[in-house]
Amino acid sequence: MFKKTNMQFNQLKRAFLSSGYEISLSQGRAIERRALDGVYFPKRHELGAIMGLLAPDEYKIYINRSLSLEDRAVTLLHELIHLKDETLPEQTVEDLGISLWSTMTDSQRGFLEFLVRA
Ligand SMILES: [Zn+2]
Repeated sequence: MFKKTNMQFNQLKRAFLSSGYEISLSQGRAIERRALDGVYFPKRHELGAIMGLLAPDEYKIYINRSLSLEDRAVTLLHELIHLKDETLPEQTVEDLGISLWSTMTDSQRGFLEFLVRA
């Protein structure tokens, strides 16, 4: 059952800026190791490659640095939704991320891309 939310980009941005979380661009293997004792399931490609992980115990958002800039930004958006509402199930977070990204402005996308630039 899809849980309705009215989560907006600006709410996610505010939540992140006041959270104290730090973004870490890391190798997939390092994120896999970190995911073993993580609180949240990592975001993965359909093929299984790890994309990102929220680690609340160390206030870090891990993003796989081998992804394209756009995929890194989309992955960050996904992890920010987890950060904003940790009760949402994985599939809801995934769906919400995809639908939010499709409605965001270039400058909103640019903000996320700026945060995950290599
Ligand atoms: Zn997730």
